[in-house]
Amino acid sequence: MHSTTWRAALPLAALLASPRPAPAADLFDPLDVRHVKVEGEIGRRIEVTLRNNLLALDADKDFLQPFRDRNRNDGYIGLGKLIDAAVRFAHLTGDVKALELKKRLVAETLKTQETDGYIGLLKADRRVWTLWDIHEMGYLVYGLATDHRLFGEADSLAGARKLADYVIARWTAEPRRVPGNGQLTVHMAVTGIENAMLALHRQTREAKYLDFVRDVRATREWEAPIVLGRFGTIEGHAYAHLCRCVAQLRLHRLEPDPRLLKPTFDVIAFLLSGDGLTLPGEVGDHECWHNTQEGTLNLGETCATAYLLRWYDEGLRMDGHPALGDLMERSIHNGLFGAQSPDGRRIRYYTPFEGPRSYFHGDTYCCPGNFRRIVPELPGMVYYIADGGLAVNLYTASEATAALPAGVTLKVRQETDYPSSGRVAVVLTPSRPAAFPIRLRIPLWCAKPALTLNGAELDGVALERGTFAVASREWKPGDRLELELPMPARLVRGRKAQAGKAAVVRGPLVYGLNRARHPELKNVDLRLVVIDPATIEGPFPDDTVRPGGTACRVKAWKPGAWYPFAKHDYTLTLTEYADPGCEAIYFKVPNPRDERLVDDELVRE
Ligand SMILES: [Zn+2]
Repeated sequence: MHSTTWRAALPLAALLASPRPAPAADLFDPLDVRHVKVEGEIGRRIEVTLRNNLLALDADKDFLQPFRDRNRNDGYIGLGKLIDAAVRFAHLTGDVKALELKKRLVAETLKTQETDGYIGLLKADRRVWTLWDIHEMGYLVYGLATDHRLFGEADSLAGARKLADYVIARWTAEPRRVPGNGQLTVHMAVTGIENAMLALHRQTREAKYLDFVRDVRATREWEAPIVLGRFGTIEGHAYAHLCRCVAQLRLHRLEPDPRLLKPTFDVIAFLLSGDGLTLPGEVGDHECWHNTQEGTLNLGETCATAYLLRWYDEGLRMDGHPALGDLMERSIHNGLFGAQSPDGRRIRYYTPFEGPRSYFHGDTYCCPGNFRRIVPELPGMVYYIADGGLAVNLYTASEATAALPAGVTLKVRQETDYPSSGRVAVVLTPSRPAAFPIRLRIPLWCAKPALTLNGAELDGVALERGTFAVASREWKPGDRLELELPMPARLVRGRKAQAGKAAVVRGPLVYGLNRARHPELKNVDLRLVVIDPATIEGPFPDDTVRPGGTACRVKAWKPGAWYPFAKHDYTLTLTEYADPGCEAIYFKVPNPRDERLVDDELVRE
């Protein structure tokens, strides 16, 4: 696929506007996250990730000590990811403890910096070329650069520069040497380095960091075929691939070049038309691209889920395509939140939809670090400035303040229990009556959206699923838009490994079976349970995952039953995907061609 536009690259967008070249300037601009206060489940996850995870870590023992010792032969900790997460949480929340933590982490990390610039955990003779050392240093540069960007800390910028200069000097001095010693493909071994150097370039405006990304890392020329499976040098590493696509999009913003978009469009085509995306918005098996639609043990590395979201956000900024918002909400409410215990403390490396799930054993390493980083970025994906007005991308209880052109300050408040229901009130308070457009994402899953303004029908606003509905008029303080996105449960048809089965989905939420709630299923192979599509009910209140959460019910037959005539054997309660006990989402149905089954609206043949 050689598309040069987002619209052409998103197969589901073929029914939308005609292709046009990627614009030079972004169409959507994010708000400062400090001006977005998010409640609802996204807000709750921010809170529990801060209180019960970030602030509950043993930062000294688990993260800092190895950098003080610097006596290891190999290994990876993820100190840079932790610094980046702490800086973002401190900036987002202004929380005193988060601020203390980030200051201490940065100060203690900078104390470990060698005179040559090195910050790491390896012995002198193992540095740079041993697997993960550049990866570790890249995220340290990134975290320190973030601290400078968000807090103006000069020491952090100085440390980041020294470290980046060390990496560039050592790497370019031996152009034939391969980081990771050829054990893995270089782009995986140094995951994150391009984004780190771009972040540092943004803070310093120094050409050498941009040159490194463009020329040394050949970021424009990276063609990146989708390699399926895990073998050889792990070419098809989903997280590394997405991370590099993000860097390409960021470089494209500075130096537009169609080559920088091609890998992104190839991934989109693979995800949406090549079975690369799974129903809960997760990708990859055992970290690598996969298209079997299996959801066992090693589904969806959490790092890949985090980078999917960041990559969708980059695309949305560039092109404002509403399908990217649909993709975001699918991944956030399922794959991402499923990767964390409901109380926030524990993180998963993989989040399967078939079979039991387990938590990662510790707090260091890639997935816990990338989970902590993406959570404080979520408020930045709720609203965007678009075309002089505001685009509402994610539905969640929240308040935000946006500076619009012509000196208008807009306060916006969403009153909603979304995703429990699809009723969303958007209350607008501009600083003075002013005309500007309000965009509301109408998800592809929503067949019958409705919109009113101050209780009355709103003429001239097209409510078409898969678009942003645009209401353009003069807005007055207190104007209240009420959006109704009915979310009846739908049965989504499985593909490939899930052929002949279906999953219960409502709005963006995927529902699954927690066997612990069903003693009668203790020794039953869930793959042989058959559900009756005529019997889906819900939503019912269910607080297993979150306050105000939901569940659905469906009647089912036991393995071997003479369905569809036999009496039902079970009434299954299906809880939200993030239920830690979820171990099945797809169930057999009597008739795989049942007209009540629908395709996943996010994918296209
Ligand atoms: Zn990971």
